[in-house]
Amino acid sequence: MKLLCEYKSSKKNDYTPALDIKEKPLTNFFNTSQMRKNPMRLSPIPEREVVKHFTRLSEMNYHVDKGMYPLGSCTMKYNPKVCEDTASLNELLGLHPEAPESEIQGALEIMFELGEFLKEIAGMDAITLQPQAGSHGELTGLLITRAYFNSKKEVRKTILIPDTAHGTNPASSSRAGFKTKEIKSNKDGILDVENLEKAMDKDVAALMITNPNTLGVFESNIKDLSKVLHKNGALLYMDGANLNALMGIAKVRDFGVDIIHFNLHKTFATPHGGGGPGSGPVAVRKHLSEFLPVPTVEFDGKQYKFNWKLKNSIGKVSTFYGAFQVMVKAYTYIRMLGADGLRGASEQAIINSNYLLSNLKEEYDIPYKKNCMHEFVLSASKFKKNGIRALDIAKALLDLGYHAPTIYFPLIVAEAMMIEPTETESKESLDGFIEAMKTIAKQAEENPDVLKNSPCTTPVGRLDEVKANRDLDVKW
Ligand SMILES: *Cc1c(COP(=O)(O)O)cnc(C)c1O
Repeated sequence: MKLLCEYKSSKKNDYTPALDIKEKPLTNFFNTSQMRKNPMRLSPIPEREVVKHFTRLSEMNYHVDKGMYPLGSCTMKYNPKVCEDTASLNELLGLHPEAPESEIQGALEIMFELGEFLKEIAGMDAITLQPQAGSHGELTGLLITRAYFNSKKEVRKTILIPDTAHGTNPASSSRAGFKTKEIKSNKDGILDVENLEKAMDKDVAALMITNPNTLGVFESNIKDLSKVLHKNGALLYMDGANLNALMGIAKVRDFGVDIIHFNLHKTFATPHGGGGPGSGPVAVRKHLSEFLPVPTVEFDGKQYKFNWKLKNSIGKVSTFYGAFQVMVKAYTYIRMLGADGLRGASEQAIINSNYLLSNLKEEYDIPYKKNCMHEFVLSASKFKKNGIRALDIAKALLDLGYHAPTIYFPLIVAEAMMIEPTETESKESLDGFIEAMKTIAKQAEENPDVLKNSPCTTPVGRLDEVKANRDLDVKW
């Protein structure tokens, strides 16, 4: 019997019907001078083939719409599609960035209200929506810090940063012209008041603290840390990119925070990663509001307007409004969830993360034993004796259908794997991830060579890491 694949149709794969009228030359209809001399330069590739090509490419990629993406510190959560719909409304997309205020009242209202919501969530007094990334927010916050001390005619050049901070913190600090001094955290992974006191002097402008920090641990001394700073005339900057662990639960104002940035593209429903636009609003306490970038968006009871008249503004930090569509997405998300929903999202993020942590603590080392917030850090050190590193575990996860966690960060944990499940994963999905991690741990003990061949199911296999780094060639 013939197999199906051997069967060949006698017909061509062409279903256009045969012509049933007499064929006539075009010159019967057109004057030859109107006709082209050379064929039109159309793409030789039909639309159908182009669509197939790009669809195949999109399937080679892993993304948040496809599966769990536990990349620690990055909050790769599912973002409701309705946010894309509102951000794509013609009335908003078609705005001219230089249209007069009277014609963009709706857009200004969205920006104003979003600012009010964020101020309420953090308990702060004033805000700018201009910065276009978390790190851009950090730079803005530090320029505000500098302007504040300049206005007091004080010279302070040092920013203190704990060893558990996000990597952008020291980078932003030096970009803003400060010296960075690292402070060690204690055995529980948080900053001690004594350690801060030891590092304090008259040159310290601020402490820049990521909270929850990159170990996924809440800095529970933060209120006392703020007192030490304020007593010495310094400021407390909180990196609030991890606000999906706090929103609706605690207001950072109560911690003594003077400046905070948000990552709308993590916490507030704009996809993070992929190089798309981000937004990193910065909120401050009253004594710093005169230094915010201009213009701020204000409402006088009748009209929304840009306020260009801030006494000591650091100036503009973005063109036009900043990343307006990201603001529309955040606005939609906050309006949809409401206060209870935002709190619910934080609680779910924390529960999901603790569920994973408590189910993986037999198989992996937990360097910091406390309960975690929205993320946690495991160590793969115990498999090193079998030649297995965090990198091998990350690669093996790809074969089991998961995106890898962040690895080798934070730097204070050997063979670190930083896992953030986010609030949008179901219990079934978390259970699947736990099973995958347990399977890998078992192989790492019993059959380590198997892991060395991973990934073998992805379009690209294991890369030579050094060559990929030093000899980058992306043209193929
Ligand atoms: C992501 C992140 C940042 C940087 O945000 P970008 O928008 O990528 O510049 C800063 N701090 C923390 C804690 C983060 O998680």
